[in-house]
Parts: sequence; C-alpha cells; structure tokens
Amino acid sequence: MKTKSKLFFTDTKKIIRKYPENKKRIQKESKNLHIFFCEGLILTKKINNKIKINFLSKENPLMSYVDLTVYLGKSKSKSLYVHNLSLNKKNKDKFNQIEFFNNILKQEKLFNSTFSDLRITFAGLSLKDSSIAGLAKSLINWKSENKFCTKCGIKFESFTNDHWEIKCEHCNKVYFPRIDPVIIVIIINDNETLIGRSHHFPVKLYSCLAGFVELGETLENAAMREIKEEVGLNIYDIKFITNQPWPFPSSLMIGLSAKTKDRKLIIDNNEIEDAFWVSKEDLKLVLNGKADNFIPARKGTIARYLLEKWVNDEM
Ligand SMILES: [Zn+2]
Repeated sequence: MKTKSKLFFTDTKKIIRKYPENKKRIQKESKNLHIFFCEGLILTKKINNKIKINFLSKENPLMSYVDLTVYLGKSKSKSLYVHNLSLNKKNKDKFNQIEFFNNILKQEKLFNSTFSDLRITFAGLSLKDSSIAGLAKSLINWKSENKFCTKCGIKFESFTNDHWEIKCEHCNKVYFPRIDPVIIVIIINDNETLIGRSHHFPVKLYSCLAGFVELGETLENAAMREIKEEVGLNIYDIKFITNQPWPFPSSLMIGLSAKTKDRKLIIDNNEIEDAFWVSKEDLKLVLNGKADNFIPARKGTIARYLLEKWVNDEM
C-alpha cells in the first residue's frame, strides 16, 4: 500500500504580512491572536487528543511576563503576535520557568495547555498550525538573538518588531531574518539508496544525507561536495524534487535526487556516524512498520517524503 507523508511547515501562504498601521490600537483589539514561547517551547493545547496551537487573547495573565513580541502577520482578519515569556533575573534563579507558567495556566483553568517541543509534536499539529508555529519559532528566535546592530553597536528599539526585518534607527542598516539553505539528497544506485545518521540523531534513526550550502555554491555543487565529503561518492544527474522550511532554527531544506555508480563508502566520521545501502524492498518494509532494523526519518519531514517517493516509484 502506498502511504504519503504530508510535508509539514510548508503552508504559510495564507499569512499576509500586512504591517499594522497603528500598533497600539491593533494590539489592543481582542480578536487578535497571541502565540507564546518559553525556552523555545510553544504553548499548545490538546482537544479530543489533537494538538493545536493555543492561541490566547490579549487578556491573559501570561502577558505580564512577555519580554519580546513580534508581529507575525494576518490570518483571515486576525493579526497574529508571537511572544517570548521570561521571568525576571531574580525569579529565574528561584523558579523553573516552565513550571511557573504551567501553574499560571492551571490557575486559569487551562488544564489542557502545555509547552511543547515542536521538533517532537509538529506532526501531531495540522499542516496550517505547524506552518504558523514553525514560522513563529524561527522569527522569535531570530529576533531574540539579534538585539544589537553589528554595524554601529546600538541596541535595537522594541518597536522594530512590528516588521520582520530590523532597521537600525541610528545607522539605517537593514537586517533580514536569516535563512540557511540546506541540501538533502536521496542518492540512488539502481535498486538501492544510501541512508546515514548524524552523531546527534535519536538511536537507530537513519535519513538521507544533508548539508549546508556554502558561499559561492550552486545547489548541485553543494550536493556533490557534501556527498563526496561525507561518504566518498561521486553523484550525477542531480534533480530538484521539493523543499521545506525547517524551523530548527531557520533552515530551508532543498530536497534533491542524485544518481551514483559508486558503491564503496568512505565514511568521514567527523561528519556522520554511519551510512549504508538499503534496497527498495527492505526500505518499503521499514517505512510500513514491518521491519525494525532501523528507524526511518519521521513522517512530515522532507527526508521521509523523498524516501517514500522513491519507494513508490514516483521519482
Ligand atoms: Zn546601526
């Protein structure tokens, strides 16, 4: 049976980046929606066993612990704001932040609310919620790490957070949110594909090989260099298949297919931990949960999408 993964994080086209004309008025409007992060975790809720972003209105007690707010855009007629929650320095030493905010949620009788690690829960969200959550995470992360102008050293004013980009009020330099392009390649040699694992992967998890695009490289050049460096293979016939924003923290994954005539692997253990060839039949069994010699890339990821497409003869 053919199964096909959804590609999560890929549906932000309905979020309109129309900047508010009157920030104070719009932030006060009760119909607007507010998304909260704490220590990189997003506030979600569980309803009938389904996970959703917990959009709160402006009138909620978490608002008094916000240390950074970013305007995300409009979805339908509602403006979306993303907030980072943080205790002040004194209380940070005294309390576990997540526990502290969880207690506030309990006091508000928001019992089904919890702070979730998007990396684990994204495939439990709807495609739309995962896309909003991913965008929100990347943007708040970038803003929280970029508080000073690198040209003149001035601290940015908080009102710059109305816009995604930051313009230094002092020297006029404009900064755009960072995106890191990453190629991820399904390498095919007749009836086999190569899968590998990085040192930081969960136990037994194997995926397609990937790497950052470097300055001056085309996507093809980056793929050829990475694959040669990691496993010593020469690849050719490189084709674009699909792409996926990956908000951990701000990558754009570019899915490619490539062929190779080489079989012998020269694994660079500084780059990856392991890699091996797997046949289409064996991979099919693993993807369908009928074999467990390794764990394939998770559903909703571009690697899973590439593997399923190849197994289903759609490539
Ligand atoms: Zn500046």
